[in-house]
Amino acid sequence: MNLLALPAFTDNYIWMLHDGHKALVVDPGDASPVLETLQHEGLELAAILVTHRHLDHVGGLDRLRPHLRGLVYGPAMGHISGIDVRVGDGVYIDFQGLRVDVWDTPGHTADHVSYLVRFDAIKSDQPPLLFCGDTLFSAGCGRIYDGTAQQLFSALTRFSALPGNTAVCCTHEYTLANLRFARAVEPDNNAIAVHEQTCRKLRAQGQATLPSTISTELAVNPYLRCDQPQVVHSAQQHGALDSTALAVFTALRQWKDSFQT
Ligand SMILES: [Zn+2]
Repeated sequence: MNLLALPAFTDNYIWMLHDGHKALVVDPGDASPVLETLQHEGLELAAILVTHRHLDHVGGLDRLRPHLRGLVYGPAMGHISGIDVRVGDGVYIDFQGLRVDVWDTPGHTADHVSYLVRFDAIKSDQPPLLFCGDTLFSAGCGRIYDGTAQQLFSALTRFSALPGNTAVCCTHEYTLANLRFARAVEPDNNAIAVHEQTCRKLRAQGQATLPSTISTELAVNPYLRCDQPQVVHSAQQHGALDSTALAVFTALRQWKDSFQT
């Protein structure tokens, strides 16, 4: 299976998974890059997965519909037009023999779902793929719109327990800005400096810093490190009422909203 990150707008990626014949896309905010790739690679669009209702994730649905030989899957809430199958926790989708599990991951919005693709069913040792929309970013996490900090924290905690080699396929190229914040939170974390150097090189070459992996995120992402002493200390200097992981997480998320990168 091939994984492609199709650039869209200024900092979005539309993820495409294909086997050389059939393709699945995630969060097509814009139809053009998808249509161009389908044509260029000679692929048939077999499924669309939507994580949440924001326009930069669903804006291409109408134009893709005539090209789709399959279904559009999306969250049960959110009233997104153009969803054929409303999915949530406990549901799984079959794509070319692959198992795609749906997880409810509200927090960024109340209607957000994520998709976890596993390859064991086709006897491949390819690492799992996590399509997490605007929930987890590399070195960061989504803003809270109509979800809650508790919900977002729960979603991120659930991701943390995935195998370390799971590929984190999020929607936005925010990694360098997020790493500047991560460095402010944990100035002594060398893994952040190393990852920043790697990502700077990639961006200078016009390449994506994504997908990341769960093990990288556990090392550099402050929102997955709310029990680390330096993270707790920094959060308490920025309004955390106590040292519980949720209080630390909530303070970090609020601090980031006003952090100048
Ligand atoms: Zn969003």
